[in-house]
Amino acid sequence: MKQINAEIVAVGTELLLGQIPNTNAQWISQKLALYGINVHFHSVVGDNLTRVHDQFSQAANRANVIIVTGGLGPTEDDLTREAFQQLSGLNIMEHKPSMDNISQYFDKQQKTMTPNNKKQARVFEGATVLENKVGMAPGMILTHDNKVWVFLPGVPKEMKQLFSDDVLPYIQGLSGETTVIESTMLQFIGIGEAQLEYELKDIIAAQTNPTIAPLAQIEGVAIRLTAKANTINQARELIAETQLKIVDKVGPYLYGIDDETIEQKISQLLKEQGKTVAAAESLTGGLFTDRLIGVEGASRVCPGGIVCYDTTVKEKLLHVPAHITKNSGVISEECADSLATNIRSLLGTSIGISFTGVAGPEIVEGHPVGTVYIGIDDGSGNKQIEKFLFHGDRQSIRKKAVWKGYELLFNNLK
Ligand code: ATP
Repeated sequence: MKQINAEIVAVGTELLLGQIPNTNAQWISQKLALYGINVHFHSVVGDNLTRVHDQFSQAANRANVIIVTGGLGPTEDDLTREAFQQLSGLNIMEHKPSMDNISQYFDKQQKTMTPNNKKQARVFEGATVLENKVGMAPGMILTHDNKVWVFLPGVPKEMKQLFSDDVLPYIQGLSGETTVIESTMLQFIGIGEAQLEYELKDIIAAQTNPTIAPLAQIEGVAIRLTAKANTINQARELIAETQLKIVDKVGPYLYGIDDETIEQKISQLLKEQGKTVAAAESLTGGLFTDRLIGVEGASRVCPGGIVCYDTTVKEKLLHVPAHITKNSGVISEECADSLATNIRSLLGTSIGISFTGVAGPEIVEGHPVGTVYIGIDDGSGNKQIEKFLFHGDRQSIRKKAVWKGYELLFNNLK
């Protein structure tokens, strides 16, 4: 194919309703851009047979590689196959290895498979079937009317795996481009962009492949490593070598690779060390605990927490002595200290963490908006109570406090 003009079609009414953003198209576009492959259109269509068919027809008129995500699942509203069959006239048949994969999936989960799940193993005659190693519906690549069609499940994790393993190498082959580009993000906490760049300046200056690009993010700082090589493994090796050099300099601040989140890292560290944590949250109102409980297996690391926004809750539920709330106030080192210690003993965890401060817009007890105390009691006798002044509106102050709490906990655990 001389020049690739790709279109990404996302199928799903939830996208049109604004319930979820179209991150699949964003992610695929970023990958294709790295390989210099043109994407001319993104389109989104709801779960409606006529409209999906019309959208496919329009895409076929203006693109020569059409990548479709979503609508391959078991339910009535998953219509991608039916719509493409109307357009192409291709036969659909059951794919035995995919059917076996789906049956095994249900056996493993000890669940009964309903008949509609069989639908997911149906593929177009002549298609190259892409094995779904992390879910059920397989992907497909096929050529019809001189256009390349790629069908991928909507679930981002499944889509990404199939795209990286099978689709990208295939499209690269079409483009005649032989160089592989691979990129990895290293995620840091507790170090600013300027300091990170300063610490790595010699490595950055000496490095051309992979390139090293520091990026400031809403939370933390990242470094994107982008390597070019003849094979994906060579590119990954180049990245791994540079990653080692970076870890050597700023390793203590590195918490994750690519999409890994700080709460996943904290959860992993707690599990490895057989520890648990509970938070007493005033201005953060449960945000800290919410993130931790969003990670799989949370019950092993976090039994719960207490939202103690009002002074009476701090006193009655968390037993902060009245002399502290009266004399030092609720926005104080003493209050953060008492909250961290008491949540730890009330919930019987290894670590107690507390958040108390002024989210705004009004000043409290004479403290400016953004004043936050975070306390950590890990039972070692060395309690850590820190005062911060965050800038921004109410929501960003609350989020910055949570991020800082994770940073302190990360430092405590690593
Ligand atoms: P499955 O086979 O697992 O049912 P599917 O191919 O039928 O997947 P959908 O049912 O359309 O895909 O979507 C499954 C889930 O994947 C959605 O609930 C949504 O959370 C996510 N998803 C779908 N499309 C997108 C998209 N374009 N961007 C981000 N997430 C998406």
